[in-house]
Amino acid sequence: MQENDPSVHGETDAFRRAGRQRRYRDTIMVTTLAPCWYCSGLVRQFNIGTVVVGESVNFRGGIDWLRENGTEVIDLNDAGCIAMLGDWIAANPEVWNEDIGED
Ligand SMILES: [Zn+2]
Repeated sequence: MQENDPSVHGETDAFRRAGRQRRYRDTIMVTTLAPCWYCSGLVRQFNIGTVVVGESVNFRGGIDWLRENGTEVIDLNDAGCIAMLGDWIAANPEVWNEDIGED
């Protein structure tokens, strides 16, 4: 799970694996769930233009802040993603809370 490293989130892992880019404004990041504050900061830091999220029902993350700062956020509100994340949070509450920085 996350290579036993709490700093490895889906967004940061994908970003690292994509390698250096000349610019990120035309980059589209696609995630199952809304990015947390940490990952929203990554999006803002590198001026990633568009984020597609599978859902924001279970977790709103930083999507309002991203929108307020010019990032296009497309929320698919996908029932499959809502069920998958809801089930995962219910089964792994301690890991989830660590991920989003809550006690
Ligand atoms: Zn994150």
